[in-house]
Amino acid sequence: MTGSEHGDTGPGTASSAFDRGRALERLAAERFDLVVIGAGIVGARVALEAGRAGARVALVDAGDLGGATSSASSKLIHGGLRYLARGEVGLVRECHLERRALLERVAPHLVRPLTFVLPVYRAGPYRAWKVQAALLAYAALSGFRRSRAELVGPQEAVRLVPSLRTEGLVAAGVYEDAQTNDGRLVLATAVAAARAGVVVVNHLPVTGLELAGGRVVAVRAGELTVRCDAVVNATGPWVDRVRRMADPGAAPLARLSKGVHLVVDLPAGWRAALSVPLPDGRVAFAVPWEGMLLLGTTDEEYRGDPSELRVQARDVDQILEEAALGLPPHVADRSRVRYAFAGLRVLPLGTGDTAAARREELIEVGRRAWCRWREAS
Ligand SMILES: Cc1cc2nc3c(=O)[nH]c(=O)nc-3n(C[C@H](O)[C@H](O)[C@H](O)COP(=O)(O)OP(=O)(O)OC[C@H]3O[C@@H](n4cnc5c(N)ncnc54)[C@H](O)[C@@H]3O)c2cc1C
Repeated sequence: MTGSEHGDTGPGTASSAFDRGRALERLAAERFDLVVIGAGIVGARVALEAGRAGARVALVDAGDLGGATSSASSKLIHGGLRYLARGEVGLVRECHLERRALLERVAPHLVRPLTFVLPVYRAGPYRAWKVQAALLAYAALSGFRRSRAELVGPQEAVRLVPSLRTEGLVAAGVYEDAQTNDGRLVLATAVAAARAGVVVVNHLPVTGLELAGGRVVAVRAGELTVRCDAVVNATGPWVDRVRRMADPGAAPLARLSKGVHLVVDLPAGWRAALSVPLPDGRVAFAVPWEGMLLLGTTDEEYRGDPSELRVQARDVDQILEEAALGLPPHVADRSRVRYAFAGLRVLPLGTGDTAAARREELIEVGRRAWCRWREAS
C-alpha cells in the first residue's frame, strides 16, 4: 500500500503498459509466472498483488476491463446488514474490514461513506426494536468504526430522504456503509497493476489451455499462445466454462443469479440512500449515485449463456413494484427510467432460492488451474 491520498489504486501513468501492440508482442514472446484470465475486480486485484510481489504477470479479458459483473453491481461497499439476519457474523465482520480498507487505504478517492435510511412501516416485516438491535450489532461488528446505529422518527427520516413514503411509517433505522463507482475501481486497479509491470490486454478472449504433465503450461488467447507456469481463472459467471478448458469433465461449481438495476432521475434533496426490507428477506435499494438514483435489485436463478444476459420487462416491473413500498408512485415510475442494466452473481452450486444462498469466497486450487470468486450483495 502506498498510503497516498489516492490509496494504492491512485492515478498515475501506465501509457506504455497499455500500448496494445507492445503488450501483444510481450504476450507472444515472454513466459509468465501467472496469467490471470478475466479483468473484473477479482482478476485485476489478483494481478496487481502478484505483480507487486515481483511475479511476471499477464492479465487478459475477453471484453472491456470491468465490463461484466464488476460494473453491474449495486455499487455498495457494505458490511452486509442483510447477512446478519441469517446469522453470518463472520462474513459481516470480514465485509466491514474490507469496507474500511477500501475507504481508508485502497481507494479513498473512489469509495465514499454513505448514510442509509431503513424505514420501519407498521405493516413491514420488522419491528423498530429489532431494527435498532440489528443496527447496534452491525456497528459492533465494525468495532464501532465508520459506523452509525440510530433509530429516528419519521420527520428526521424524511429530512434525509425527502421522497420517503410516510403512510404507516413508524420510525427508521439510520446506519452507515459506503459506495463506489465499481467500473472505475476496476480500471484504477488495472492501471495500478500495469504500473507494477503487469501486461494488461482487453478484447482478447482465452479460447483454450495447453497442458503438459497434467499442468497448464500455456494459454491460447486470440491468435497467441501465452506461455505460463500458472493460471488464475477469475472469469466470474464464465468460471465453469474456463475450468472445462483444462478438464472437460469438470463438474460445475457455480450457479448464477441475475440482478437488475434501474437508473432513474434523482429527486431533489436526498441526503441518504434508502434500504427497504422486503418480506422475503431481500431489500429494495434506492441509492443516489453519480447524480441519478439506482433502484434494485432482483435475485433470480439464471441458467442461460452469461453473454446473452438481458434486462426483461418483468425485471423492470418487479423493481418498480418493490421500490414503491418506500417511494411514491411519481419517483418509482416507468417514465423516469433512463437506463437499466443486469449482472450475474456467482453462487455456490445448490438448490432453492438464490437470495438465500450463502455469499462467500471460494478458492479452488485445481489440479490444472485455479479459480476464485467472491460474491457479495
Ligand atoms: C446485481 C448485483 C449486485 C451486486 N452488488 C454488489 C455490491 O453492491 N457490492 C459488492 O461488493 N458486490 C456486489 N456484487 C458482487 C460483485 O459485483 C461481484 O462479486 C464482482 O463484480 C465479481 O467480479 P469478478 O471479477 O469475479 O467477475 P466479472 O466482473 O464478471 O469479471 C469476469 C471477467 O472475465 C472475463 N472473461 C470471461 N471469459 C473469459 C475468457 N474466456 N477469456 C478472457 N476473459 C474472460 C469477462 O469478460 C469479465 O470481464 C453484485 C453483483 C450483482 C450481480
